[in-house]
This record gives sequence, structure tokens and C-alpha cells, in this order.
Amino acid sequence: MSTQTRIPLTRPTIDEATITGVVEVLRSGWITSGPKVKEFEAQLSQHCAGRPVRAFNSGTCTMEIALRIAGIGPGDEVITTPLSWVSTSNVILQVGATPVFVDIDPVTRNIDLSKIEAAITAATRAIIPVDLAGLPVDRDALYALANKHQLRVIEDAAQSFGSNWKGKPIGTTGDFVSFSFHANKNITTIEGGCLVMNSDAETRLAEQYRLQGVMRSGYDGMEVDVPGGKFNLTDVAARVGLGQLPHLDEFTRTRRALAKQYLQLLAPHTELGLQLPVADLTHSNWHMFQVVLSEANLKVKRSQVMADLDAVGIGSGVHYPPIHLFALYRRLGWKEGDLPHAEYVGRNILTLPLYPTMTITDVERVTSALVNILQSNQRAA
Ligand SMILES: *Cc1c(COP(=O)(O)O)cnc(C)c1O
Repeated sequence: MSTQTRIPLTRPTIDEATITGVVEVLRSGWITSGPKVKEFEAQLSQHCAGRPVRAFNSGTCTMEIALRIAGIGPGDEVITTPLSWVSTSNVILQVGATPVFVDIDPVTRNIDLSKIEAAITAATRAIIPVDLAGLPVDRDALYALANKHQLRVIEDAAQSFGSNWKGKPIGTTGDFVSFSFHANKNITTIEGGCLVMNSDAETRLAEQYRLQGVMRSGYDGMEVDVPGGKFNLTDVAARVGLGQLPHLDEFTRTRRALAKQYLQLLAPHTELGLQLPVADLTHSNWHMFQVVLSEANLKVKRSQVMADLDAVGIGSGVHYPPIHLFALYRRLGWKEGDLPHAEYVGRNILTLPLYPTMTITDVERVTSALVNILQSNQRAA
């Protein structure tokens, strides 16, 4: 066992041409935001059907900036999912607005759109849905709801670059769309993100919020009229992103093939009571492969399963503990029992390794290890 190499939870794939390209940027004399960022933005815009796109140094700030562009702040409510990276709701607090969590659909693990209407009040201004693991939220139902109630949408598509809704790539349609290019995402700039917008006016504001609110004109003109921050992407990072984009389709194909193998190997093990992800092999980019362990079947906690996987050289992760039960959100009044599906899934979800350089043999090793661990920890029937 110890002679086998470790299978990490995830791993970025950076080709040699990208490494050479980064070295060229470092030698060029221009290493922060410059021509490579512009080139990266142009290619991202092309990927998003020509919509305006600007790059930033994280996927978190893109959402915060979208909220600011939409004029959302104190007194406003924003509806979102409790099962996400805490960034999704932290940005709502960051602009002074109030997050309102709506429970998930336990099958898709995304926000339950049928429960949103009951959460809408006179103060509701926007919805931030998340495509967890890359599985797209139903865009038809989402925008029907948003249009009916005149709400802005900020799609947290951090995990769904390369996914599509009915054949249309995520980012090509909709209101604001935010992507992350963190090292673990399907396409990376090490750290970074981008925001897809609707108009030149929004794009100008995004540029201002990105860098201290500054607007320049002529050789020496400078004006500041919004309190911008420091959110610009570097050319070094943009060059990494430019080296990633040509591989997007191949990365997505490989992830789908690995997910298919996981599904085939785990589906027969009904005795384990595992909840498998939706078997969508055409729309999701399979950012993650996640199972939900059965509390009823297991004698041990999830952490023990993770430790046992770790002991045989297999990484695993939890995405995510439900946000509303973090101390910061409990202080706002959220408590155990408020969102039962997110709480159950949050306690029992387990992310298994999945990345483009993983092999079918690796998937077999992970599934047989997991099945062994779960079988030896089953409660007596
Ligand atoms: C990664 C991620 C973010 C944040 O992106 P960063 O680039 O790390 O700031 C937001 N939401 C979701 C769902 C994510 O997975």
C-alpha cells in the first residue's frame, strides 16, 4: 500500500508551453496588469458569446463588485444557497446587505428554486445561485423567477466554467456571471476570476471598482468617484489562464469520463446507502465528484472515513459545511434545523479525487478503498 503513489483530492494541470510563457512574461518588463490581461479578457469574452468580461484577482471580489454595480447595500436582502464556499455569502455581508438562505434540493444539492418565492420580501434585490460541483442550476426557472420579481442575478459560476445549460455554455447568457480561477477550479490563473456583464456602463464601473475607483484621461487626467479596491489580475496570472483555455474541452471530457467511471463502479453498491451525484454527463463540467454518506448505515463519522482514505494514500474533502451554521451567521439568527437538507448533506457529503491527469485505474483504486472502508463500518442490519 505504501508503495502506491498518493491520489490527491485535486491537482492543477499546467503544460510546459504555459511555464515557458510565464517565464517570458517575467522577462518582458511588464509583470502586473497589462497586455496579457487584455488578451485573456478578449478570449474569455469570446468564450462568453462576445459579452463584456473583465478579469480580477479572485472570484470572490467579482461577486462583491457585481453587487456594488447593482447598487445593493444596507437594507437589501440577497437570496443564496447555504451549501457553498463561504465566499458566496460573505460578499453579501461585505456590501452591507443581508443574506437570506434557501434550502437545497437534496438531489442536485443546488438551491431549491421552488422554495425561493416564499423567501422573497419587499427588501429582496438579488439571487446568487451556485452551480455546485459544476451541475448547472435550472437557468429557465431561475430567470423566470428573477424576471417576475425584478431581481438581479449574480451567478456564482466559480465551479461551472465549461458547463452548459441546454447546450449554451455558462457565461453566454443570463445577468452577471462570476467565475473563479483559483488553483482548484477547472481552469486556473493560480488565483483569479472574471465577471461577465451586460453593458459598457457596467464594465466601466467594474474597472473602477477593480482599481481604487480611478478613471484616467489623456496624459495626466485622473478622477476618482467610487471607493474602489485593489482587485486587478497580474499579467503573470493572465498568462497562466491563456495557457489553460485551449485545454478546457479536453479537461471537461476527461472529467466526465472519470465521473462516468465513478458512477458505474459505485452504483451497484446500494447496500452502502450512498447518495450519488446526478448522473449528468453532458451539462456538468464535473468540477467535483461528491457522494453523501448514509448516517443510518454508518457506525463511524465522516472524519473517520476521511482518515481511513488518507491512510491508504487517497485525498478527500468536504464541500461544504452549511454556511448558516458558522458562528458569523448564527449571530445573524440562523440556527440548526432551519435548513434541514443543507445540514444533512453538509454533515455527510464527501468529495472524492477528480482532476484531468487522474486515470481510470486511479478511480478504481479510490472506489474500492471507499467501498472497503464503508463495508467494514456498516451498522448491523
Ligand atoms: C472558489 C469559489 C468561490 C471563490 O473564488 P475565489 O477565486 O477563491 O475567490 C466562490 N464560490 C464558489 C462556489 C467557489 O467554489
